[in-house]
Amino acid sequence: MKFCYCRECKILRPKNWYSGKSCDICEKDCTIFNVPRTMFGRAMYVLDGLAVALIVLYFARFQMGWDWASVISGVESSTLVIVIFALIFASFVLAFIDIGKMTEKANRMVGSGVAGKPPSR
Ligand SMILES: [Zn+2]
Repeated sequence: MKFCYCRECKILRPKNWYSGKSCDICEKDCTIFNVPRTMFGRAMYVLDGLAVALIVLYFARFQMGWDWASVISGVESSTLVIVIFALIFASFVLAFIDIGKMTEKANRMVGSGVAGKPPSR
């Protein structure tokens, strides 16, 4: 995930991939650096993938009645919906932890000079 550190404002913020390299506040250039996702982020992708797979299965089984989806024929549709929502909720929680951990790491990286030397005073 990309972070932007503005030496002018001394503010560290996560950056979206589509946003430029200027500070959101003073609009001067900020230092962009990348912090790898944590295991929480990777677990989040796994849960998202599972949720998508179950949503596809849900529609195939209960809306379309396709035969290949009968692998879940023993499962009630309401149970499946609960599991899907639980997965999505867990994925949100993991994303929250992931961003917290990445922000911590980004702060340490700024402290160790990844964004250039802090201006001396
Ligand atoms: Zn700034």
